[in-house]
Amino acid sequence: MVYSQDVIEDLRQGNDIVEVISGYIALRQSGANHMGLCPFHRERSPSFSVSAHRQLFHCFGCGEGGNVFTFIMKMENFSFVDAIKFLAERINYRLPQTASAPSVSSEEKERMHQAYAFAARFYYENLQAPPGQPAMSYLEHRRLIPAIQRKFGLGWAGSGSDLRDHLSSKGFADGFLVKAGLAMEGSRGHYDRFRGRLMFPIFDVQGKIVGFGGRIIGDGEPKYLNSPETPIFDKSRTLYNLNYARQTKKQTLILVEGYMDVIALYQAGIKNVVAALGTAFTANHARILKRYCNDAVLLFDTDEAGTKAALRAIPHLYSAGLGIKVCRIESAKDPDDYIQEFGVQALAEQLSNSYDFVDFQVQTANKGIDMSQTSQRITFTKASAKIISALNSPVEREAYARDMAHKYRMDEGALKEEIAVILGGDGSEDYIEAPRNSPIAVYDNKQGGQAFSEAVSHILSTMASDKDFCKQITKYLTGEEFADSILSEAFSKILLAQDKGKEVAPADIVTTFEYAEDQQKISRAFVKPPEYEDTKDKYIALTHQVTLVKSAHLARLMADATQNGDVEALARLSIERKNLETHKISFLAV
Ligand SMILES: [Zn+2]
Repeated sequence: MVYSQDVIEDLRQGNDIVEVISGYIALRQSGANHMGLCPFHRERSPSFSVSAHRQLFHCFGCGEGGNVFTFIMKMENFSFVDAIKFLAERINYRLPQTASAPSVSSEEKERMHQAYAFAARFYYENLQAPPGQPAMSYLEHRRLIPAIQRKFGLGWAGSGSDLRDHLSSKGFADGFLVKAGLAMEGSRGHYDRFRGRLMFPIFDVQGKIVGFGGRIIGDGEPKYLNSPETPIFDKSRTLYNLNYARQTKKQTLILVEGYMDVIALYQAGIKNVVAALGTAFTANHARILKRYCNDAVLLFDTDEAGTKAALRAIPHLYSAGLGIKVCRIESAKDPDDYIQEFGVQALAEQLSNSYDFVDFQVQTANKGIDMSQTSQRITFTKASAKIISALNSPVEREAYARDMAHKYRMDEGALKEEIAVILGGDGSEDYIEAPRNSPIAVYDNKQGGQAFSEAVSHILSTMASDKDFCKQITKYLTGEEFADSILSEAFSKILLAQDKGKEVAPADIVTTFEYAEDQQKISRAFVKPPEYEDTKDKYIALTHQVTLVKSAHLARLMADATQNGDVEALARLSIERKNLETHKISFLAV
């Protein structure tokens, strides 16, 4: 994590959850809590509850919950780091510099943002004035309406050193402008980096301008020119239009190649669209995308370069855990042209008929292959095996091997054998090996279900509030027995905090997790603090709950051992279970 826990705690304390949420929905005091209509699901009577005391929210209707960071992440569709920045800005809190850019002071970055904001304004006004006419006619030709030009802040970069002169008058030195990527140094002094270009400001996810893309109007090279990497602009992490696309809160984002594609789709009403910027789509892009959506549709140009770019993006998207589809628009060279010619409705239809990503890859490998030729058939089968063997799960590999063999008339057995060879198997039937990363078991499974998760929840919230209990629990239980890596991590974090003698605020434990779904899981565990008549009652209940968790854990291990035919382990585990029944767990009230 980039910011220290101290900073995060400062921000949580500075941003009262009731105040923050009141900025989005109406809340009414009801007993100890505040209630309102849940912003995350449709409802008529309020089941969304906010606790000022514990600084957590929870919806009894849809189950969303968390602390003030979780709320902002969900509401604004922000990553954790973005939520930190947002909440810091809200209370004028100066965030410490992060380790990622030690050499540049935050003042200098701030100044760069200012220079870019001035530059964007300057370019925009130029576009609206007579000198911007060439660029304006291009936009009119592309039928971009003024409201969209304004929304995307399109501008015109004239000639010579117009911008440099303008920014000098605002007090920006030449050296700084060069560093910021707005000016160049030549033999006859400083001049503008962008000249004779239609300008596209590039916004970060917070909506601040971090760079420009410039399209040449008229003759000249290169056709597109981007800002260089600067302290505020990292191309491998910036996606054009993510600032607007995230606001749609759509679980699918469409990935296109260029600025004009993005803007054309946006104007046509398809707003969940982003583009990588004059650079290949990277693993970082994929990871960033995953924070905002579950599925990606690749809508690239249909030429060879576009196909290659799609093939290169797929492995990154797949590793990031995104669902992937590929949309092919054969009758136009790019999405913008397609909309001009066939209209947005036709494009929407194309998008909903997108190819499965494995099919797309196999189909591309199939291009120009004559299946009646033995050598070509072999080449194609090998290429297909390579594509399918890159999939993580044996179930996926099995299904795709069957479907692709059928669809493209390959010998299914030969394809599967080839996959086995690539995966290092021996080519026999057992080519479907265990997954490389076996998924983490979910705790609300058949072993106890509701009772189990309630037990976990009571144990965790008691640990946070009761130091004596916390000291004794390690004698009986480890976090692994929760069968959930996140809850197990919470277990260790509470222990550690209690150990340091710090007061443990559930909302702070929640914030030590970076992802909203994890935060939600933890805060759900804290949502109903157990209430008991007295300490004795409490400890009796906890004894049951710890026993329940332990026996569910043992049952899971025994089920595994049975499946693996591990007789030795089974014998050991059943002894452990007997012990659990006879050796009573007991907590002492100190
Ligand atoms: Zn809800």
